[in-house]
Amino acid sequence: MSVAQGREYLAIPGPSVMPEAVLRAMHRSAPNIYEGALVEMTHGLVPDLRRVARTRHHAAIYISNGHGAWEAALVNVLAPGDTVFVPATGRFGHGWADMAAGLGIETQVMDFGKASPFDLDRVAEALRADRSHKIKAVLATHVDTSSSVRNDIPGLRRVLDETGHPALLMVDCIASLACDRFEMDEWGVDVTVAGSQKGLMVPPGLGFVFFSDKAAAARVKMDRVSRYWDWVPRANPAEYYQHFGGTAPTHHLYGLRASLDMIFEEGIEHVWARHARLAQAIWAACDAWGQGGSLRLNISDPAMRSHAVTTLCIDAPHGAELRKWVSEHLGLTLGLGVGMALPGSPEAGGFFRMGHMGHVNGQMILGLLGGVEAGLTALGVPHGKGAVEAAAAVIAGRPD
Ligand SMILES: *Cc1c(COP(=O)(O)O)cnc(C)c1O
Repeated sequence: MSVAQGREYLAIPGPSVMPEAVLRAMHRSAPNIYEGALVEMTHGLVPDLRRVARTRHHAAIYISNGHGAWEAALVNVLAPGDTVFVPATGRFGHGWADMAAGLGIETQVMDFGKASPFDLDRVAEALRADRSHKIKAVLATHVDTSSSVRNDIPGLRRVLDETGHPALLMVDCIASLACDRFEMDEWGVDVTVAGSQKGLMVPPGLGFVFFSDKAAAARVKMDRVSRYWDWVPRANPAEYYQHFGGTAPTHHLYGLRASLDMIFEEGIEHVWARHARLAQAIWAACDAWGQGGSLRLNISDPAMRSHAVTTLCIDAPHGAELRKWVSEHLGLTLGLGVGMALPGSPEAGGFFRMGHMGHVNGQMILGLLGGVEAGLTALGVPHGKGAVEAAAAVIAGRPD
């Protein structure tokens, strides 16, 4: 019997759950785009976005998804024939590299597989070998949403400094901004890329690029940058409202205002701590399930795991069966194992992901875990007992 009627729960790593406050802010008739409330509100968004990315520098808002923000970041500082170094730890590093290749940029990809973070010694070796400093930028993914690894960005900065390499440090924070601690200025990041539909809890459609003065200087040296993606007018507070490259993304801006208000009301440090606690609860449950079956966390070292997405490995086809069962019977949608195996292949049934980014709290995570428990039980998939209890203990602040 299905017990799926009720509020659906999309527990995938983006788009994330949208708060009522965001939905309410967006539920309005078409606003005046020439003057008044919308225009005034928009001027406050850039400084507030900078607060979330922890930077005093520049921020540009685009009408795009994350792929658009990837492209925006690249075209402002890199020309065809330039070289980038891409340490890849899952699908998304390769995705950004592919985008660079499509722009005629030479890509040096160092693949660390699907279950490990960057090996900083190997990265240092590659940077040292580049004596002529051909590499113009390092493209790093903070949280790779396919493997759920969280890479050491301050460590990567240290490697650039120790090897004396002048490349720009460009970081994809699409899955980590407002979920995992990220300190753009303190960590010495030159370009940060983000999107609206993950930790920022707004529908897909806004892309963000933050850039340092060093990146701004690199932009000035470019012969040409496509008009739509040029970050100069978009990052100029006096001008940017006119520079959405056409009509402003009116409703998304209202949604973003509401989401930023929620983040500041909670406090960004608390937002990070909440994500960390809920992630620990999920890991405790997964460890318990793994005691009596094949289910295990893809990233073995807790220090290198995302607090916003968790990739699980399980004997195929249980991953695919579980996703189908919880969707049909519980109204719960789990994430596909993107990038872990060929889509549609039998191996792809050996993975699934849980998204726990943005507007999620303890009762939702316990519901998510209880739902997976029900699915494993219904399908007769072998699993250890006590998973939900273990998660509840973490949420209660009393593990063990
Ligand atoms: C979601 C995501 C992307 C892609 O964003 P889209 O909005 O789907 O284009 C890129 N990188 C990371 C790390 C992501 O999580």
